[in-house]
Amino acid sequence: MRISVIGCGYLGAVHAAGMAELGHDVVGIDVDPAKVAALARAEAPFHEPGLTELLRANRARLLFTTDIAAARDARVHFIAVGTPQSADSDAADTRYVDAAVEALLPYLRPGHLVVGKSTVPVGTAERLAVSVASTGARLAWNPEFLREGRAVADTITPDRLVYGVAEGDAVSVAALDEVYESIVARQTPRIVTDLATAQLVKSAANAFLATKISFINAMAEIAEAVGADVVQLADALGHDARIGRAFLGAGLGFGGGCLPKDIRAFRARAGELGVPDALGFLADVDSINLRRRTRVADVLEQELGPLIGRRIAVLGLAFKPDSDDVRDSPALAVAAMLRDRGGDVVATDPVAIPTARARDPFITYRSNTDDALRDADAVVIATEWAQFRALDPVATGQMVANRLVVDARNVLDVDAWRSAGWIVRGLGRAHALRVEDPRAVQHEPEGAAEREPDHV
Ligand code: NAD
Repeated sequence: MRISVIGCGYLGAVHAAGMAELGHDVVGIDVDPAKVAALARAEAPFHEPGLTELLRANRARLLFTTDIAAARDARVHFIAVGTPQSADSDAADTRYVDAAVEALLPYLRPGHLVVGKSTVPVGTAERLAVSVASTGARLAWNPEFLREGRAVADTITPDRLVYGVAEGDAVSVAALDEVYESIVARQTPRIVTDLATAQLVKSAANAFLATKISFINAMAEIAEAVGADVVQLADALGHDARIGRAFLGAGLGFGGGCLPKDIRAFRARAGELGVPDALGFLADVDSINLRRRTRVADVLEQELGPLIGRRIAVLGLAFKPDSDDVRDSPALAVAAMLRDRGGDVVATDPVAIPTARARDPFITYRSNTDDALRDADAVVIATEWAQFRALDPVATGQMVANRLVVDARNVLDVDAWRSAGWIVRGLGRAHALRVEDPRAVQHEPEGAAEREPDHV
C-alpha cells in the first residue's frame, strides 16, 4: 500500500520507517528541510536506537520530501505533526495539525483515509473529519503509544492498536487492518471505537502514567519528612499485582515532549468541556513533578551552602536515557536552576548536548564525562543513562574536589558509593540507608538528615 506520513519528528520519522518495514511504500513529508535531507540520506535526524538501521534497510520503499503534493499517490495519510503547549495557556496548540490537514485536502480523493496519530484535544478529530469528508475521503484516529528510546520496536510490535472511526465505518477499519496486517495477524489487541474514545485513550494513558510517577514522588516528599526510604516503599508497593512496580521510580520526575504538555492540555480541555473538576488533580500531578526539580537544588544547598561559584557536574540532559529529546527535560531544568542559583554548572550527556545547547546556550557543556566531573564540588545524576549508573565510585571520587553526589534518579548503589567515601543524597531517601542498617529505623530529630552525614 502507498502511505504518506505528514510530520517526520520523533513519532513520524519512526512511523514512516516502520510502515516501510511492514512492506508499504511510504512518503514522509515534513516542512523542515534539514530533517527531510537527513531522512533522505537514511540518517536519523535525532537519536533513536535502531532508526538509522531501519531507514537504511527500507530505503527502497522510503521517500522523504518537503512537498505535500507527494502525498497525491498515497491511499492512507498519517498525520504525525506536533501538538505543543500553546504559548499563552495550558491548552494544546493544534495549528500544525490543522495546517497539515488543510495542505493535504487538495490531494485527497474518495477512497483515501486520513489517520490522525498526533495527540490532540478530544473533539479535534470530529472537527477535521468535516473538511476531510468534503473531499470524499474518510478520517480515523489511531493514537500512538511509542516510547522514545524504544520507538522502533514499539512501532513494529505495538502492545495494542486503537482505531477510532465514525459509527459504522467498516471501510476505515479494513484500511487500517491492511496497513497493520502483520501486526493484526499476531493477535495484537485491537480496539475499534469511536473518534472521541480513541482521542481520549491517549490523553488518559498519559494522565495515568504521569499520576503514577507523581504519586511515588509525593511519597518521596513524605519519606523525606520522616526519614523513610521511598525506593523500598516502591518495591514493597510494587509487589502488589494491583499496583505493579512500573512507573514507581521516585526521582526527578517526568518530562519530554508528551507527558507534561499532555496533562496540561487534557486538563484545559476538561475545562472547555465544562467538567474542570474531573481533572483538577492533574494540576497537583504537575506541581509535584516540578517540585522535584527544586528539591535537587535545595538538597545541594543543604550540603554545600550557597551555590555561588561551586562547581556542579550535571550528568544527563535528556529527559530520559536513550533519547536526545530535551523538551521539558527535568535534567536540563535542574542544570539551568543550579546555574541560576549561582552554581558553576558543567553538564554532560551521551547524545543530548546539541539539543540542550539549542535550548539553553548559557550552560557549560562537556562531551566527555570525566571533563564534566573534574574538580566538581558536587555531582548530580540527572538522567539515568546506563553509563552514569555504571560509574565507578572509586575512580569517580578521584576526579572530584568533594565527594558529594545527588542521585536524582535513585539509581546508584548507595552502599558502594558510601564505601568509596561519598555523601550520597537521593530523592525520597532521607538517610539513603538500607532497612537492615539499624540507623534506618531510628527516628532522628527533624532536619538531622540534612545535617548529619549518616548517609555518607
Ligand atoms: P516533533 O516536534 O518531533 O515532530 C513534529 C514534526 O512535524 C516536526 O518535524 C515538524 O517540522 C513537522 N511539521 C509541523 N507542521 C507540519 C506541516 N504542516 N507539514 C508537515 N510537517 C509538519 O513531535 P513528535 O514528538 O514527533 O510528536 C508529534 C505528535 O505525536 C505530537 O502530537 C505528540 O504528542 C505525539 N506523540 C509523540 C510521541 C513521542 O514519543 N514523541 C509518542 C506518542 C505521540
